[in-house]
Amino acid sequence: MSTSHLTIDLTALADNWKALDARNTSETGAVVKANGYGLGVGRAAKALAEAGARQFFVAVAEEGAAVRKAVGDGPVISVFAGHMAGDAPLLRDHKLVPMINSVEQMLRHARELGGHPFGIQLDTGMNRLGLEPHEWAALRDVALRQGPTLIMSHLACADEPHHEMSAQQLRVFKELTDDIQVPRSLAATGGLLLGPDYHFDLCRPGVGLYGGEPFDEAKAVVTLDLPVIQVRSVEEGETVGYGNTWTAPRKSRIATVAAGYADGLHRALGAGIDLFHGTQTCPVVGRVSMDLITVDITDLEKAPESLQILNRMQTVDDLAEAAGTIGYEILTSLGNRYRRSYIA
Ligand SMILES: *Cc1c(COP(=O)(O)O)cnc(C)c1O
Repeated sequence: MSTSHLTIDLTALADNWKALDARNTSETGAVVKANGYGLGVGRAAKALAEAGARQFFVAVAEEGAAVRKAVGDGPVISVFAGHMAGDAPLLRDHKLVPMINSVEQMLRHARELGGHPFGIQLDTGMNRLGLEPHEWAALRDVALRQGPTLIMSHLACADEPHHEMSAQQLRVFKELTDDIQVPRSLAATGGLLLGPDYHFDLCRPGVGLYGGEPFDEAKAVVTLDLPVIQVRSVEEGETVGYGNTWTAPRKSRIATVAAGYADGLHRALGAGIDLFHGTQTCPVVGRVSMDLITVDITDLEKAPESLQILNRMQTVDDLAEAAGTIGYEILTSLGNRYRRSYIA
């Protein structure tokens, strides 16, 4: 088979949720936006619900509809984008809770879906989503009378444990909410790991569930096998790939495997990445092209049928480091040409 094979380990996903839950002094939700960080939102959400998650978060209402289908009627599904124009039918039909971000959204929600549950997102310094402190001051009495189900904010620098921004945002969040009897949430994966001060009533981990930093005890959730299409010998001094960027330092055997930057294996990966045959490593040589990667397999005894690029030894964060990005982007870029299978 010439397509590459992505294996998603739902048991590892569930174990990561349980491990984060064990660190958390409050309720543990699950963020499943962007198609479950690229891994398939239906299967991911169902596995997380079975592990015990009762609160799910998505970026936009359409994603919430898919989660509702996967987890059934019970769990709460909240939408970070809040209540956007045209969302009312989706929010109503799939029982989604918009996290209101602005005065405009608050008015829209009251007008179009009065009585439907909502939460409130406050900006505590990240300046991305949420009501500003002065807006909250003006709106809070009216908003609280309508019974929000959750008040949340988001940390900008929680993946850096000693960053002073987290303590600063914690202070602001408390000032804005300490006298209120509504459940509160501040932490994603990074904030959960900062400790109990950040837990409030609910944590919202995402990336740690899927095997990414900053949860360094996470189990690997994805394995990616790339079939070898062709193997050739090159003489010392011959070059491989676009731009002649690699020159064989010795007589070498080169395997060409079936995936490239169109499949989320960024062109910037190039040097510094290995492919694996069992535990044996084979360096990527030459440029990553759209559908193909070339690998030096000179030290293998015989040509393998496929080589692994993602596994427990080389994680999404290792690929991210080589490509100058973050594990989140590697996960959410994993291509739709892969044959995908789930193990549970
Ligand atoms: C994406 C996101 C999360 C989850 O963040 P991770 O770093 O993946 O754990 C939580 N809250 C909000 C508002 C987000 O946008």
